[in-house]
Amino acid sequence: MPHLAVNDIHAKYGKLEVLHGIDFDVDRGEVVSLVGPSGSGKSTVLRALVGLTPVTSGSIEVDGTRIDYSAPRAVRAARDRMAIVFQQYNLFQNMNVLRNVTLAPTKVKGRNRKEVEAEGMELLKLVGMDHKAKAFPDELSGGQQQRVAIARALALRPEILLLDEVTSALDPELVNEVLDAIRRLASEGMTMLIVSHEMSFVREVSSKVVFMDNGQVVEAGDPSAIFDGPKSDRARDFFGKVL
Ligand code: ADP
Ligand code: MG
Repeated sequence: MPHLAVNDIHAKYGKLEVLHGIDFDVDRGEVVSLVGPSGSGKSTVLRALVGLTPVTSGSIEVDGTRIDYSAPRAVRAARDRMAIVFQQYNLFQNMNVLRNVTLAPTKVKGRNRKEVEAEGMELLKLVGMDHKAKAFPDELSGGQQQRVAIARALALRPEILLLDEVTSALDPELVNEVLDAIRRLASEGMTMLIVSHEMSFVREVSSKVVFMDNGQVVEAGDPSAIFDGPKSDRARDFFGKVL
C-alpha cells in the first residue's frame, strides 16, 4: 500500500478548474518530484494535500485511509500527517531559531517544552543548524533560514514532507546547503514530495518523477526514463528548455 495516494483529484480557483484529475502514489520512504512548466499546477497539488486548496473531486489517502478535508478536525489531521515548506520561509523574526522550531509543538500541540526543545535541537542538527539555535533570523543567511524552516516543519512530526521550491528564492551559492539537508532527510527514510527546478538534484534524489502540464499528469516514471527518454512532446519540449 502506498504511503500517499493521490487519486484523480480536481481543484478550482473560483470557477476555473486548474487540476483536471491528478493521479500518483508515493511509497513509504520514497522521494517523488513534481516537475513541469510554471502554472502547471504543482503548488496547487501540494496545497490540496494540506487542505489549503479544496479538492472538488477525487481522493487523497494516507496509508490507505481517505482524508476527509470537509471536516475542520480532519483538515488538522491531514496537516498533522503532512507538513509543507514554501519558497518564502517566513520565520518569526522576533524569536530565536530554537523557539521558531519549538513554538508550534508547545503552543498548538501543548507538548512539554523541555522535551520539544531536546527534539528541536536534534532537528536543527539534522539540517546543520544546531550551532545557531540562539541566533535570530536576521542574523542568518537565506539558506540557513530555509534550513530552520525545514526543521520547524519537521517539529510537527509529519510522516510526509512537502517541499515547494524551497531553494528558488536563494542566492545560487546557498542552494546546495539546503539540498544537502534534504538529501540527509531522504537518506533517513523521510517520505517526501518535492517541487524543484533543480533538475540535477531532482534526478539524483527522486525515485519517481511526475511531469505535469496544464493541470494534468502527462507522464511519470523513474528519473532516467523521464529525463532521457520523455515519451510526450510536452515533456520533451520542457526538458529541452530546462536541461
Ligand atoms: P505551479 O506551481 O506549477 O507553477 P500553480 O499550482 O501555482 O502552478 O498554478 C496552477 C494554476 O492555478 C495557474 O494557472 C495559476 O495561474 C492558477 N492559480 C494559482 N494560484 C491561484 C490563486 N490563488 N487564484 C487563482 N488562480 C490561481
Ligand atoms: Mg508553484
